[in-house]
Amino acid sequence: MAGRDGSATGLDEYRRKRDFHTTAEPAGRKRARRKRRATLRFVIQKHAATNLHFDLRLELDGVMKSWAVPKGPSMDPADKRLAMEVEDHPIEYNDFEGTIPKGEYGGGTVMIWDRGTYHADEAEPGRDEEVLHREYREGKLSITFDGERLSGSFTLVRTDSGPKPKWLLIKHRDEHVRRGSDIVAEHETSIVTGRTMAEIAAEEEPGTFEDVAIAPMMPKTKRELPEGEGWIHHLAGGGERAVAYVTAESARLIARGGKDRTDRYAAIAEALRAFAGRTAGAFVIDGEINGEGADARYLVFDLLLDGDGALLDSPLEDRLERLGVLFRRRRIPGVRVAPSGRAATLLRRAAREGGDGVLARRADSPYRPGRRTDEWRLVRT
Ligand code: MN
Repeated sequence: MAGRDGSATGLDEYRRKRDFHTTAEPAGRKRARRKRRATLRFVIQKHAATNLHFDLRLELDGVMKSWAVPKGPSMDPADKRLAMEVEDHPIEYNDFEGTIPKGEYGGGTVMIWDRGTYHADEAEPGRDEEVLHREYREGKLSITFDGERLSGSFTLVRTDSGPKPKWLLIKHRDEHVRRGSDIVAEHETSIVTGRTMAEIAAEEEPGTFEDVAIAPMMPKTKRELPEGEGWIHHLAGGGERAVAYVTAESARLIARGGKDRTDRYAAIAEALRAFAGRTAGAFVIDGEINGEGADARYLVFDLLLDGDGALLDSPLEDRLERLGVLFRRRRIPGVRVAPSGRAATLLRRAAREGGDGVLARRADSPYRPGRRTDEWRLVRT
């Protein structure tokens, strides 16, 4: 596709249908990037429009190919789920969660229900797009999802033609099959913010991150440091985890479970706000607070949003690079980037200074809010 066979690929239809002065949905880049990516992303958004449905979006040729699936996916191969092809969406849409105003196209609440990567079952590594072009043209995709909720191989098979073709989404037989299950009913919250549809709909200003608490991603505690390459190590102090939401006007420190620690660590919050005021930037960072009162220190080890850009899907190494740029040569009283370096050195240092241990994280891992996965490991002294 991608215009190779003359089919319409691009964002013209998407933009024609929307008034970006009214809706908070992204307009997308002027030109979709056509750069080949090693991994292709997918997202499933639950959308309470006139009729509730699930929007399945697959990254291909720099846009998100999109299908509206009224009943959502199923892990049971006996279920054939109708999937109506709709217009391509911009990649930025993957981060959209909020409410499209009534009267606008697709008016209603949108939740990010699942996301991750996918690949073509028949493709050699890195050649997914070639295979997907052919399979899409022939009307039969065979793809494997690696999401938080959806996993395993599925087929998408076209059942008619025309400008808005109908397809069927069917689970292939593999070890991920769960017969008789209802994955849609099992998960009623956002994979990003943990909110229900009602909570998203109740949000006053969709799209402003100050109103959205991101649950911290958690490490698994392990006895041994991970072996091999691809890990990034930081000193862990053992303090209270807190995500800081910072703009030039305000800063809030929110601990696990949504507990607001802004008043308790008022000096740190004010120092962050003043920093954002000087640099005219807004950002969301993750870290831990060690010590109390005047001795309290916020050790920062992640950057989740920077300006308008959500970085949750970016690999850890990219997020840390941006964090380094943000904090470069700038002193913020009571705040510092957590020391990083060789694991063994950090472990000795933690033992010497009474720290907790070492936080080891996969360099290529995205930020998974509220999740405890093997990609983050805490090794105690
Ligand atoms: Mn929709």
